[in-house]
Amino acid sequence: MTFKPEIQVCPVCEARFEVPSVRSCGSHGADSDFRPHCWGYDPLEDQVQACRECGFAGYPEDFREGVTENVIRKIRKFLTPRTRDLKRPSAAFFRYEFLALIYEWEDRSSLEVADSFLRASWVARSRQNREKERLYQRESVRRFEEALEIGECGDQSQRAVISYLVGDLHRRLNRRRRAETWFHRSREELALVADSDEGLAWLSDQIKRQLESPSDVLV
Ligand SMILES: [Zn+2]
Repeated sequence: MTFKPEIQVCPVCEARFEVPSVRSCGSHGADSDFRPHCWGYDPLEDQVQACRECGFAGYPEDFREGVTENVIRKIRKFLTPRTRDLKRPSAAFFRYEFLALIYEWEDRSSLEVADSFLRASWVARSRQNREKERLYQRESVRRFEEALEIGECGDQSQRAVISYLVGDLHRRLNRRRRAETWFHRSREELALVADSDEGLAWLSDQIKRQLESPSDVLV
């Protein structure tokens, strides 16, 4: 089965380029930081695309929505000089890094910035680039903590899940004490979730496991 590439137009410099069309994947389980395991085709690397002329990066909706003058100036100043990175075979994690920076300049929520850095770390991991993986994990965990601190996670279930994720990112960064503190915090947040929310039964087991005999794979 072949898929026709699509044409994307850069909202910053109007360059036109081909992008692979993104398909969905069947997944079986996930890593402990929620990176899905796909059967065969893995859409992660294709979901975010970047312009090799100026460095703009985004999901399809970001290409449609465009960017403000202020953000364009920052892209020109900080990303355009780095477009060489986008031509490397490992470019996919740079696309997520550029996206995270653009979201930060756009004053998007800490959750959105954190999520982009998290995905960058997932790609770096599949590319076996441990140094970049750690760099992006550090950037990601800082924003997730910030999101919890400033009340971006209004939903109690989300607070429990994000607290677990903060713990697991610290664990992956070999920050054992901080990881444990956050796993315990996640357990406390989980206790406040209404009993009716049975969808979170797995989290209690997962926290227990990461405290007792940690694994890089989700239960
Ligand atoms: Zn461009």
